[in-house]
Amino acid sequence: MTRLDEIPLTQLKGVGEKLAQTLSKLDIFSVQDLLFHLPYRYEDRTRIVPLNQFRPQMPGLFEASIVSHRVVYGRRRSLEVIVEDSTGAVTLRFYHFSAAQTRQLETGQSIRAFGEARLGKNGIEFYHPEYSLITSADKHEIPDRLTPLYPLTEGIQQPRMRAICQQAIQWLDRAQVNELLPTRVLELLQLPELNTALRFLHQPPTDADQQALLEGRHRCQQRLIVEELLAHHLSLLKLRHSIRSHTALACKLSDNALALRQHFLEALPFALTSAQERVQQEISNDLQHPVPMLRLVQGDVGSGKTVLAALAALQACGAGAQVALMAPTEILAEQHYQNFAAWLADQPVRLAWLGGKTKGTQRKNVLNDVRAGDVDIVIGTHALFQDDVIFHKLALAIIDEQHRFGVHQRLALKDKGRNAGLVPHQLIMTATPIPRTLAMSAYADLDTSVIDELPPGRQSIETFVIPDTRRQEMLERVRTICQSGDQAYWVCTLIEDSESLQCQAAEDTAAWLSESLSELAIGLVHGRMKAQDKALMMEAFVAGKLDLLVATTVIEVGVDVPNASLIVIENPERLGLAQLHQLRGRVGRGEKQSYCALMYHPPLSVNGKARLQVMRESNDGFVIAEKDLELRGPGEVLGTKQTGLVDFRIADLQRDKHWLEQIKTIAPMISNPQALIDRWVGQGEKYAEV
Ligand code: ADP
Ligand code: MG
Repeated sequence: MTRLDEIPLTQLKGVGEKLAQTLSKLDIFSVQDLLFHLPYRYEDRTRIVPLNQFRPQMPGLFEASIVSHRVVYGRRRSLEVIVEDSTGAVTLRFYHFSAAQTRQLETGQSIRAFGEARLGKNGIEFYHPEYSLITSADKHEIPDRLTPLYPLTEGIQQPRMRAICQQAIQWLDRAQVNELLPTRVLELLQLPELNTALRFLHQPPTDADQQALLEGRHRCQQRLIVEELLAHHLSLLKLRHSIRSHTALACKLSDNALALRQHFLEALPFALTSAQERVQQEISNDLQHPVPMLRLVQGDVGSGKTVLAALAALQACGAGAQVALMAPTEILAEQHYQNFAAWLADQPVRLAWLGGKTKGTQRKNVLNDVRAGDVDIVIGTHALFQDDVIFHKLALAIIDEQHRFGVHQRLALKDKGRNAGLVPHQLIMTATPIPRTLAMSAYADLDTSVIDELPPGRQSIETFVIPDTRRQEMLERVRTICQSGDQAYWVCTLIEDSESLQCQAAEDTAAWLSESLSELAIGLVHGRMKAQDKALMMEAFVAGKLDLLVATTVIEVGVDVPNASLIVIENPERLGLAQLHQLRGRVGRGEKQSYCALMYHPPLSVNGKARLQVMRESNDGFVIAEKDLELRGPGEVLGTKQTGLVDFRIADLQRDKHWLEQIKTIAPMISNPQALIDRWVGQGEKYAEV
């Protein structure tokens, strides 16, 4: 049996080493790869359109003869060719043209051309249409199928690509691409067989549903999409298996552990909510097993995830093991450190801090302690998981406020417990609720817990949207709020994609506010400040020594100051909804009514308006996350365009989410999951394996 994935491209007519090289840039290496290189659009060239039927934006094929041609020297030089048929005349315009072309497009010649009509200064015009001369000798045939348009790369043009894909299709007469979905699955989902689907997509008949094809909703496309979704799902299950086949420390609730936890809970000024109680049970159960936990905790801003992290940590410490707690920013990690230090002050638990800016002897000392087992809980940023951080006996890694913790990071963590022959339990707590659909596909390898309840007494934050022309009013509002004893944030967000500009904006704003509100104590934090200065500033704000904190988005996640009741966010139209929700979550953490002012820079786009509207109407992170997904797409929402977390070739989670539930049930019916993974995830998985 011929294997199409083993047939090199150079077997095709007209493909030499050079073109093969070009195609490799599109990840096309074999005839089979070409078959999976799907058109993104189709054109109907099966019908010749009379010239008088063209309307602006209408694409079409036409035949006409040239009545004049000349080079026009306007603002841009162009070759202008006027053609006519029995019904009318149109203009063809070329901005790039060769001398040969000028000679070729001679008056009296007949041409067949395809293009999209535009409204130009001479009425209907076609810019750079695809064309060929009609000579009596060779009568070109009109295609009887839709003409595919393929994704290209530099060095190959549409006609060439089309020709070689057509050749690839012909190979299907002699050999088949392996069908990896069992017949009963295809029947269940009412999807066509693979080879049928591939043929169809490369050469759809004229009566094919073009709209469906354009939107990726055609059964033949969906058939491939299901394959891809399945492949991703299976690869995550494989990953899960590869972690869970190792041994973790069974952190039993020994007397010691129970005492630590009991003591901690008694010292808390509140009781756990029932949602917290439920989720802490789930975590605690996982930890007691000798199988590495892989658990994602989702809880809206302020739902109280930190105490759950502490409880989990104490369970591991009680079992005589180490815990690493990682936060995405220095500020947040420091805050955790402060919290833990206060909570555990009179407990026999040793804490250490390891930030990105911990350097020199200080860093060396921490590393030594961690390695010797003289530290129980290490708190810090990514610095925690660098290669030279060697744990004595790491049993639990807690990743806070970070759903951007991708597959390969989860795998890398696996090795951090190797000194004790353990794979650590992983507890991942997300900054933002993840839409269910995304969670299902991006985190199929994780068990999920949801904290679906806020601590009692929280008032929902009142959000208003105002233009920045009313800046002065906001300033007065800040004055009033702070004079009443509350605190406020003023957040300067990205003006352009530049951190230094953002910091500059924060500095300018802080200067302006300090001048206008001289009776208030005003602080400033931004990413360019020294960690220590930032920490001092945050401490002062937490302690209530500052009334107003001007900040960049560095305060985005986690920062917890219950006395703050107003947050002003500049340029909110530039941010994703999830991020805005996070920022807004800096207030409303205590029992007082809180406010969020979204101070946009007019004019707002339609989409921008819609998004701010969502913020005004909802305080529910899950609802906002779903909206964000609708308005911006999954890559943006997960922040993972680069991390390969949801890097689909043809699937689109928003469009195709209706499959996800079924994907889960179908997964066990696949007899050769690895083949599917190789076909669709290939590269990404290799990356994850290192
Ligand atoms: P997040 O889930 O956003 O990380 P935090 O853990 O920072 O939330 O908790 C937000 C605030 O709510 C903190 O001040 C915390 O002490 C408080 N908190 C947490 N759980 C409860 C509870 N059950 N009752 C009252 N307050 C709580
Ligand atoms: Mg938190």
